Amino acid sequence: MNPRLTKRIFDDFPDLFPGNLMFGIECGDGWFEIIYDAIKKIDQISKEHECNITISQIKEKFGTLRIYQSGPDEAEKFVDEAEYLSGKTCELCGDKAVTTNHEGWVRTYCEAHEGGHEEPSNEMISKLLLSVRK
Ligand SMILES: [Zn+2]
Repeated sequence: MNPRLTKRIFDDFPDLFPGNLMFGIECGDGWFEIIYDAIKKIDQISKEHECNITISQIKEKFGTLRIYQSGPDEAEKFVDEAEYLSGKTCELCGDKAVTTNHEGWVRTYCEAHEGGHEEPSNEMISKLLLSVRK
């Protein structure tokens, strides 16, 4: 994920990422809003239950999003929700998409991105940063 988007998540929810993440957020920018929304809800659970949840890893695996967190089932519910949403959202641009398997290479890309990777534009990054609110 783009460093600007990653920084925004770490800056807005510092309690969940006490040491940040060693490998950053290991997926495309198209899932930024899904991640932000899930993290926001997990942060609320952490504060309500005073259970000091931490997140150890966020990454793409088999075409969908995985968030590894230390919290209770109420928090894990939002992890499952994010995984479900990522399965129909392009990992690169956030458009509607389906998970496909090309000879073992499982990815969730829209039609435009099916062929491969594309660097995100500054415009897209700025739009994403404005789209979320803590
Ligand atoms: Zn796309």
